[in-house]
Amino acid sequence: MNINNDYISQKEDHTKAIYSITPFTLLDYPNKTACVLWFAGCNMRCVYCYNPDIVLGRGKIDFNEVILFLQKRKLLLDGVVFSGGECTIHKGIELYLEKIKQMGFAVKIDTNGSSPSVIKKLLNRRLIDYVALDFKSTKNNFAAITNSKLFNNFNETLDILNASQIPFEVRSTIHSELLSTEDIQLMLNFLERKKYNGTYYLQQFVNDTETLGNLSSSKKLLIQNIKVRNIKVELRD
Ligand code: SF4
Repeated sequence: MNINNDYISQKEDHTKAIYSITPFTLLDYPNKTACVLWFAGCNMRCVYCYNPDIVLGRGKIDFNEVILFLQKRKLLLDGVVFSGGECTIHKGIELYLEKIKQMGFAVKIDTNGSSPSVIKKLLNRRLIDYVALDFKSTKNNFAAITNSKLFNNFNETLDILNASQIPFEVRSTIHSELLSTEDIQLMLNFLERKKYNGTYYLQQFVNDTETLGNLSSSKKLLIQNIKVRNIKVELRD
């Protein structure tokens, strides 16, 4: 099954893009207190996705409710995380960001990289402060893992972020059935060729979690044999 942006746009309810809100987190925005807005829908169908309800579900929360929520938490929160699902496929994202930035919050976007033109526009308008970019795999495995043909979009988004001044991170979720140590080495080599100079975060897949696809247990990720030159690699729980 290949999912594309047109398909999502047709299904989207523009008035209620958000599936749920995590009111407070210290883990999702580096060095900031934040809340997380979970946007419904996604243009990928990653086998290991932990959020089937959000990806397959419809939005439930009106943006006005988000604004009211944020007004009450102005003194408690530094930032707002746009996550999902995939927030960049929502047509209202620019307007949402404008309003949230006007309120004085920093904004982080979690993205699968499928919407380079949206990211470019948001960067040009200085509407985002930090980006976490998912790196699913190199081109060879991308379709099998994500059920999409969006590798070139991811590649373009990485180029845009690399050329920008914005702080961003690249991260990968590793399931041993989907990515071998050799694959991870190839991904690291790819990032080095791209001259990515941030930290590359590797997240071990958490077993016994509900996912979009059927997967057996993932074996523990071993990275001692990976050769690193210029990029710092960090394991993240
Ligand atoms: S893991 Fe894949 S399917 Fe799930 S939200 Fe992220 S990009 Fe979408």
